[in-house]
Amino acid sequence: MSSEKARPHAVVIPQPAQGHVTPMLHLAKALHARGFHVTYVNSEYNHRRLLRSRGPDTLAGADGFRFEAVPDGLPESGNDDVTQDIAALCLSTTEHSAAPFSDLLVRLNSTPGAPPVSCVIADGVMSFAQRVAEEMGILGLVFWTTSACGFMGYLHFAELARRGYVPLKDECDLTNGYLDTAIDWIPGMPGIRLKDIPSFIRTTDPNDVMLNFDGGEAQNARKARGVILNTFDALEQDVVNVLRRIFPRVYTVGPLVTFARGELDKIGGNLWKEDTSCLGWLDAQKPGSVVYVNFGSITVMTLAQLAEFAWGLARCGRPFLWVVRPDLVSGENAMLPEEFVRETKERGVLASWCPQELVLSHPSVGLFLTHCGWNSTLESVCGGVPMLCWPFFAEQPTNCRYVCSKWGIGMEIDSNVSREEVVRLVGEAMDGESGKAMRMKAAVWKEKAKEAVVEGGSSSKNLDQLIEFLLAGSD
Ligand code: UDP
Repeated sequence: MSSEKARPHAVVIPQPAQGHVTPMLHLAKALHARGFHVTYVNSEYNHRRLLRSRGPDTLAGADGFRFEAVPDGLPESGNDDVTQDIAALCLSTTEHSAAPFSDLLVRLNSTPGAPPVSCVIADGVMSFAQRVAEEMGILGLVFWTTSACGFMGYLHFAELARRGYVPLKDECDLTNGYLDTAIDWIPGMPGIRLKDIPSFIRTTDPNDVMLNFDGGEAQNARKARGVILNTFDALEQDVVNVLRRIFPRVYTVGPLVTFARGELDKIGGNLWKEDTSCLGWLDAQKPGSVVYVNFGSITVMTLAQLAEFAWGLARCGRPFLWVVRPDLVSGENAMLPEEFVRETKERGVLASWCPQELVLSHPSVGLFLTHCGWNSTLESVCGGVPMLCWPFFAEQPTNCRYVCSKWGIGMEIDSNVSREEVVRLVGEAMDGESGKAMRMKAAVWKEKAKEAVVEGGSSSKNLDQLIEFLLAGSD
C-alpha cells in the first residue's frame, strides 16, 4: 500500500471519440508500464458504451490503472451514436465536463491509499481539463491526437482569418478552384494549398463552431506546460522543428500503437464490438492481395457514394475486407446493393468493426482504402501498407496531402468518387508502377516507425523526457 501511495499519478482525459480514446489509452498504458498510477477518464456516455462493447472486465482496470467517468452533457440515445456530431460534442464537453472534472481531481486527491494526482494529460480539444489542473496547482499538458501537420493547420486558423482567406467569401469558393490557392507562408509546410488545411475553414460563417473551436483550442495549447503528439520526428521533421520553436516542450512519442502487453491487454478502447473472424479469413489469403476498406468511426457518405465504392470493389476483381459501420450512410441504414453482395461473396468479407491494428499488420493486406484519419494513417505506416485516400473532414485532407505528396505512399480518390476511378486506382496501386514505388516507400516508413519507438529511437527518448518532466513536476 505504501509503495502504491508513492507512485506518480497521471490523470488522462481524452475527447470521447474513437480517434482520441485509442491513442490516449496507448499513452496511458505506456505511463503505467513506466511505474505511473493511472486514472483514465471516459465520458459517461462512452463508459456505458465500453461496458456494452467490451464487458465490465475492461473497465475493472488493473493494479494501478483505474477508470473514472465524468458527465458529457450528451443526451441518452437509442441506437444513434450521439458522439458523431463533433461540433455538439466539443461544445457539450466544454460546457458540462469541467466542473465534474475538477470535483474528480479533488476526490482522487483524497482517496485513501491512492497517490495524489501529479499530472493531468488532457486532450488538446479538451483544454478545459488542462486549465482546471493548473488552477489546482497540478501540472497540465495537452495531447493533440492529430498529425503534427494537422495541428499546425489548426494553429494557423487565426492567421488565415487575419489575412482574409477565411471564412470564405462565397459558397462558390468551395468549387471554383479557390481552395487550390497556394498557402506558401506557413512555416514547415511548403507546397500546401488551402484545400490541405483542416476542412473546418471551408465555411462562409465567421461564427462557425468548428472553425472557432479547433482554432481556439490550438491557441490554448500555448498555455499548456507541454504538448504531446502521436507522430515521430522523421515522419514530420519540418513541421515538428517549427512546433519546437513555438512551444517550449513538444514530445513526439508516436506511433503510439499497442505498447504494453500482459496484464493490461484486456483493457481496450474500442467503442464498437470487434468482429475478429476476419483475421482467420485474412490468414487464408495470398500475401499482399487484399484490399482493406475502412472509413473510421465518423465518416459518413451518401448511398450513391457507397454504391460507387461497392461496384468499384466488385469490378476490381480482388479479395477485399470492407468494414461498413451501420451508420456509415448519413441518415439511412448502410445497405449495400443485394446484387453486389451476391456477386462478391466468394472474395469479399464485410464486417461492422474490426481490430484494425491487427488487420493492417497482417501480411495478406496489400492496400488500405482509407479516410486518412490520423490513427488509421499511422497504423498503415506501421503496417507498411500503401493507401488510397478519400479524406472526409477535419485534418484528413492535410494527412492525405502528406501521404500522397510527401511520403509517397498513397493516391487520392476524388471526393466525387466513381466506380471507374476505384477500379483504376486499385489496379494501379496493386499492379502498376506507382504501386511498386509506393510499396517500396511504405516499407521504408515502416522501418523508420519501428526505429522511432525502439530503445534509443527518437520517440522512445522523447517518452523518457516526457516522463522525466512529469516526475519532476516542474521545470
Ligand atoms: N478502428 C478499429 N476498427 C474499425 C475501425 C476503426 O479498430 O473497424 C480504429 C482504428 O484502428 C483507429 C481508430 O479506430 O485507431 C479510428 O481513428 P482515426 O483517427 O483513424 O479516424 P476517426 O475514427 O477519428 O475518423
